[in-house]
Amino acid sequence: MSPEELAFDRQHLWHPYTSLTEPLPVYPVASATGARLRLTDGRELIDGMASWWCAIHGYNVPELNAALAEQSARMSHVMFGGITHAPAVALGQRLVAITPEGLDKVFLADSGSVSVEVAMKMAVQYQHAQGGVGRGKFLTFRGGYHGDTTGPMSVCDPETGMHSLFAGFLPVHHFMSRPPAGFAAELDADYVRRLAAFFAVHAPSAAAFICEPVVQGAGGMYFYAPGYLRVVQQLCREHGLLLIFDEIATGFGRTGPLFAAEHAGITPDILCLGKALTGGYLTLAATLCTSDVADTIGRGEAGVMMHGPTFMANPLACHVAATSIDLLLQRGWREDLTRLSEGLALHLRSGAQMPLVQDVRVLGAIGVVETRRPVNMAKMQAFFVQQGVWIRPFGRLIYLMPPYVTSDAELEQLCAAILAACGRPELFQ
Ligand SMILES: *Cc1c(COP(=O)(O)O)cnc(C)c1O
Repeated sequence: MSPEELAFDRQHLWHPYTSLTEPLPVYPVASATGARLRLTDGRELIDGMASWWCAIHGYNVPELNAALAEQSARMSHVMFGGITHAPAVALGQRLVAITPEGLDKVFLADSGSVSVEVAMKMAVQYQHAQGGVGRGKFLTFRGGYHGDTTGPMSVCDPETGMHSLFAGFLPVHHFMSRPPAGFAAELDADYVRRLAAFFAVHAPSAAAFICEPVVQGAGGMYFYAPGYLRVVQQLCREHGLLLIFDEIATGFGRTGPLFAAEHAGITPDILCLGKALTGGYLTLAATLCTSDVADTIGRGEAGVMMHGPTFMANPLACHVAATSIDLLLQRGWREDLTRLSEGLALHLRSGAQMPLVQDVRVLGAIGVVETRRPVNMAKMQAFFVQQGVWIRPFGRLIYLMPPYVTSDAELEQLCAAILAACGRPELFQ
């Protein structure tokens, strides 16, 4: 890329969570194939991020390229109001078939954040239809991340989500400390008691409990035991609240099973999917709900679900998503997940002994190294690029969520780069 183009970028283009006054360096990517990104200067980087966890099949996937071309030759878009099309039906059939039993109704939205907005509106409409007027609050765990639009932001962690900055703008909801750490941890009876007390106080004014099951992603790459989800579901039932699982990050195999809800063996009332839904090709998300939720909304004052984005069920995105799901199921993702999970554990394990490392944890194809000091983002990013890998840490978290097609050798190189970085105090704040 020319210096002029890079200068334009620095002066005019916002990047995610960055300043235009003091922009951090950006790396120009020209193309990507398999698990590798190619920079415009020809250097190749092994991608440990799957483009924020979306590109599960890697890049430039022949089957997905073909799906995109086929569909664009038929029609790229058509309104979904009063019209339907085969790609939407095919995707809906697959989502109903592969998600936990009972999630039969599908709302196709344009991004993860929007699917959470839709889930929250569904819950409010559901309560309203049952006479629960004024049940407009949501209950959630601290440490969560649900997206960047207003509704989702209001249930993101109050500190990392900067609720004080947006005070007066964001609705105020109720936060419970998150469950004790550890996927395999025993249930803590004292925590369960406090959770019940939290429901007793706040549930009467609430529509639903929303959380990321088992893994809190952008809120801290934090794992907790599935048993807490069963407790939350029971409390929701006792208090007449709906249970919303945000599986935008955990869906499509990332934590081991196809959906993290399967760890707990339960079906939420509402499920949000996004990110890997189209294999990282196009923006698309889905909000699924049970027949009970849909029927109750249908009996309510509005009688309809009050949402309908312009690009709802975009045919290009739907056709690519349906093809991506077929590819995932055909490819034997379970073997890939087991292989990646074992590889991450094997190659990151020795990091736990390093002085700058606080914790190493692995679940499914998620490997996390939590450090004692926050990283120096610009320096560490440059170090990783020198090592031939693309890893984007945040705060005290250096993590991998690689594409499922990452080879054993590529995975080893990603892990080695992280351990090398953890041996260099100058890359930390
Ligand atoms: C990324 C993410 C979102 C937001 O999705 P966008 O497509 O970025 O709007 C919501 N919830 C979770 C758990 C996520 O990881």
